[in-house]
Amino acid sequence: MGFVDKLKGLFKAGAAEAKAPKAEPAAAPKAAAKAAAAPAAGGSTMQGSKYAESCALQPIPGYVPNLGAPANGKIKLALYWAAACGGCDVSILDSDEKVLNIGDMADIVMWPVAADGKEHDIEEMEDGSITVSIINGAVRSSENEHMVKLLRKKSALVVAYGTCACFGGTPALANLVAGGKDEILDYVYKKTPSSAAFCEAYPEKPHVPQSEIQVPEGTLTLPTLYNSVKSLDQVIDVDYFVPGCPPTQETIEGLLDAVVNFVYNGVALPPKGTMIGVTKKTLCEECPRTKENRRMDKILEPYQVDVDPDLCLMDQGILCLGAATVGGCGAKCTRAGQPCRGCYGPTDAVSEQGASVFTAVASLFPIIDEDPICKEDKIIDIMSSIKDPLGYFYAFTMSKSLIKRSVKEGGQ
Ligand code: SF4
Ligand code: SF4
Ligand code: SF4
Repeated sequence: MGFVDKLKGLFKAGAAEAKAPKAEPAAAPKAAAKAAAAPAAGGSTMQGSKYAESCALQPIPGYVPNLGAPANGKIKLALYWAAACGGCDVSILDSDEKVLNIGDMADIVMWPVAADGKEHDIEEMEDGSITVSIINGAVRSSENEHMVKLLRKKSALVVAYGTCACFGGTPALANLVAGGKDEILDYVYKKTPSSAAFCEAYPEKPHVPQSEIQVPEGTLTLPTLYNSVKSLDQVIDVDYFVPGCPPTQETIEGLLDAVVNFVYNGVALPPKGTMIGVTKKTLCEECPRTKENRRMDKILEPYQVDVDPDLCLMDQGILCLGAATVGGCGAKCTRAGQPCRGCYGPTDAVSEQGASVFTAVASLFPIIDEDPICKEDKIIDIMSSIKDPLGYFYAFTMSKSLIKRSVKEGGQ
């Protein structure tokens, strides 16, 4: 039985048990029946490529928000943050009054930032009984790993929401610390000015957090930090990916619409593995700036340039990762005069965003025409003006890169 068939079976069983809604508008069932008979709006674009066009941005035919639960009862929704900054959760809360629609169409069984719901509540649920778990953040600790494995077991669908979950995101820059967690903990808890002062004042206290400590009341435990930060699909099976740091509000609305539309209207879900909310092209294709493909003989920060509002930022010497980034955000940063930092990740055509950026930048060096005597030292000069090339080019995708992490060999 295929993935979608299994889900259909599950939802049929769920629908049979579901209670009647409190208040269902008379028009809704008719509209739902009409919608069930209609082809999915934009459905053809969901098929095929892993980077199929968004399944988002389509209203739910027949489902009227704010008018009570759908006819077959609510779906069950869990939201969880692993190693994250909180921005992804805020992006969902940021949907203003539409956040109430989420409450209309879903029973929220877990959402640490906004609703109660404890780990043991989830443990007691039947396997596969959560319709969809939306997980943001990378996997960086024993707690992250435990929770995402638990949610996988209990959920029919798991969505990696945000760039940290999809590619490791900014937490995965920790993979560039060659000494791993010990070096990070040592620096944070012993060498930063405030922690160094604490260590000096209280030399007898443990300075680095312990995973287990005895206190008069019993044993206290803390999660263990891992040496490598991983993306969600490097730890559990993931059904859909929603990139963005954070994803746009339209994407979360579209994602939930797609799930509800599938459960209540039988509209096909996109194929497993689909990246939701992205286009099939690079960000440059949706950026309104004019590209002149000028050669770059120096790389500048935006504050060093009186930014032309219409010209491509690369043409103005500002390093913009649009050519190596998949479209979907609507070029939010470049429209505001800031370079794209690549938060939506690579296009379908490449797996290595950092290397793709190197290629894009190198193609603009004045090697061929304007300056035929451009030699290696000149190129090194230009590249040296990028302050942190690894951090810049792999700011969001280190876990999924070929590099993956730095290591120490022979003490180096
Ligand atoms: S993807 Fe961005 S906004 Fe979301 S948790 Fe990671 S760093 Fe924060
Ligand atoms: S490189 Fe950046 S500024 Fe230039 S067209 Fe592409 S996205 Fe726009
Ligand atoms: S322009 Fe680039 S960095 Fe900015 S939101 Fe879009 S993909 Fe992310």
